[in-house]
Amino acid sequence: MSTVLVVNSGSSSLKYQLVEMTTESVLANGLIERIGDGGSAGSSKHTVTVDGQSPESFSSESPIADHAEAFRVMIDAFEKHGPSMKNDPPIAIGHRVVHGGKRFFGPTVVTDLVKINIEDLSELAPLHNPANLEGINAAQQAFPSIPQVAVFDTAFHSTLSPAAYSYAIDADLADKYRVRRYGFHGTSHKYVSGAAAEFLGQPVEELKIIVLHLGNGASACAVAGGKSIDTSMGLTPLEGLVMGTRSGDIDPAVLIHLHRKANLGFDELDELLNRKSGLLGLSGRGDMRDVVSAANDGDEAARVALDVYLHRIKHYVGAYMAELGGVDAIVFTAGVGENSDVVRAGALAGLEGLGISVDAELNSVRGGGARRISPEGSPVAVLVVPTNEELEIARQCLTVI
Ligand code: ADP
Repeated sequence: MSTVLVVNSGSSSLKYQLVEMTTESVLANGLIERIGDGGSAGSSKHTVTVDGQSPESFSSESPIADHAEAFRVMIDAFEKHGPSMKNDPPIAIGHRVVHGGKRFFGPTVVTDLVKINIEDLSELAPLHNPANLEGINAAQQAFPSIPQVAVFDTAFHSTLSPAAYSYAIDADLADKYRVRRYGFHGTSHKYVSGAAAEFLGQPVEELKIIVLHLGNGASACAVAGGKSIDTSMGLTPLEGLVMGTRSGDIDPAVLIHLHRKANLGFDELDELLNRKSGLLGLSGRGDMRDVVSAANDGDEAARVALDVYLHRIKHYVGAYMAELGGVDAIVFTAGVGENSDVVRAGALAGLEGLGISVDAELNSVRGGGARRISPEGSPVAVLVVPTNEELEIARQCLTVI
């Protein structure tokens, strides 16, 4: 059996998935939360799913001090509930790493130098890269002889041209402080554009695709011939679409204005834009389900929040059609994109003149895998394609080991 263990290590969490690579099936997955949470008894929670089953007896609560201990707890769970990693170790461990800066263009086997570079890029992703590195160190400790592979969220966007990635500010200053657009969600955009091409039965190299990854975080990506040519997130995951709690695009002068007039300091502005804006800031609700249901109940603020959200998506669809010189497929993915027919229909409403329409009946079908929601014969295929970042990471591992 050839398996790859995929690890997504957050500051206080460890998410993992064991993928069998011949069939690309998930053998087991799990989530350990509240790592290092003061060490009080029962503070860390571990949920385990094996073969799609997650009985209560597979879950446990115990204090877990750090990621190294979390790895030991995960390995113990594999011994207890299967499949045993000691008897049948994975051929690689793939790590999601958020920021690869200008240095990493693809999946990379981890060496000491790679770790130094990931560490150095922490100043661009202070919440993520250090946590990702902790996961890598813990995995190396637990499995010193298995190749560790870093797969970067930014890598898919390394094909952006200077026209797309440069901010029009002082070039020396930008260079010195590495200020440019990097883009995120790259693993998802790559997987989804590939899966969309497969669904359409056409080579991705011949297609122009716009992917709309709408989750808690949200970004759009213009993919030409399988390569990212533009994406809506920038130096950080704050730019672009309206998100659950993030503002997305904003006139930078708003910050200067609020600093001068409302006396808000940098930390407060950071908190405002990243955690108190977006749907939450506009309507008091950060979850799209709540926003849609409140808007349906006549809540005016929720209606405005939904309208701003949809308006911004449409704005990017138009921009990316212009950059691509047309579009063959528009693809919705992630929590909101896969589940909200209201958002899908609203974001593309009124675009019939551009060859884009959504069939109400097809759009109302829930669940399932990749599906088409545009009417038969419509020039632009509108699709829903569930994302699978773990599988994409596992596949990318195989290309470098
Ligand atoms: P993350 O960005 O954290 O990976 P997901 O892609 O899982 O997030 O998306 C989570 C979001 O999906 C939730 O915050 C919720 O707003 C949204 N969501 C889930 N189900 C629905 C639904 N049926 N309708 C609208 N939004 C939904």
